[in-house]
Amino acid sequence: MDCLFCKIIDGAIPSSKVYEDDKIYAFKDINPQAPVHVLVIPKVHISSMDEVNEANAESVKHIFVMIPQIAKSLGLENGYRVISNCGDDGCQSVKHLHFHILGGKKLNENMA
Ligand code: AMP
Ligand code: ZN
Repeated sequence: MDCLFCKIIDGAIPSSKVYEDDKIYAFKDINPQAPVHVLVIPKVHISSMDEVNEANAESVKHIFVMIPQIAKSLGLENGYRVISNCGDDGCQSVKHLHFHILGGKKLNENMA
């Protein structure tokens, strides 16, 4: 499958790993929008939030269970933001479900 994030999971495209287990992978965003900007993705290919269902939700659940620990490991004790852009209006550019973790400074109040 021609999916950038699947290739990152496979190691075919290099990334800066932050966390990995059997279900999920977390790595630094190549174009950071905040001092800390990490992407968390399921290892199973899910195109977007729109494709989450009962059958594949286990990895999504695990992402949300692990985000607090990943955030702590990144030093985000003062808070952070989690974003998933979906579809054209959401400006999703990579069609593999991902959750942005943003932090390391006081974020813009107007951005969700
Ligand atoms: P979105 O616009 O929500 O689909 O987010 C996609 C994110 O992937 C953007 O923030 C990009 O900077 C990031 N990105 C694209 N290619 C790479 C890459 N090779 N390694 C790390 N992050 C990437
Ligand atoms: Zn994929």
